[in-house]
Amino acid sequence: MSNLVLKLAQAIGIVVLAVLVVGTVIGVLQWLVVAAGLVALPVAGIWLYFRLSGRSTARPARRSAPRPTRADRAVTARRAELEGRAVYDAVGRCGWCGSGTRHQDRYGFPATPLAFHRSEIDAML
Ligand SMILES: [Zn+2]
Repeated sequence: MSNLVLKLAQAIGIVVLAVLVVGTVIGVLQWLVVAAGLVALPVAGIWLYFRLSGRSTARPARRSAPRPTRADRAVTARRAELEGRAVYDAVGRCGWCGSGTRHQDRYGFPATPLAFHRSEIDAML
């Protein structure tokens, strides 16, 4: 009888030990995940900041790009001027065609003047 109790106690002890070990491992893993997250968040923030402010490793790539010629710049300026006209004004009138109603794409969804008049703008370039 006492032998059986001893065996039972031994089994319970092994189970408790196993649970403790698994719990410890899971705890360490959780801690690692949290620590990685805590480290990654500021790093991601700094990376995003440098990326958005343009002071990143993107600069060498931009420097190696071919310099725009005078004609390229003229086209870019003309495109910017034309696209600047294709916006709604304060009263919701299209600056490109003067229409007082909102533009819709061919599926009936609202479209920006820029998207709606894209082909006309491209044709004028
Ligand atoms: Zn329009």
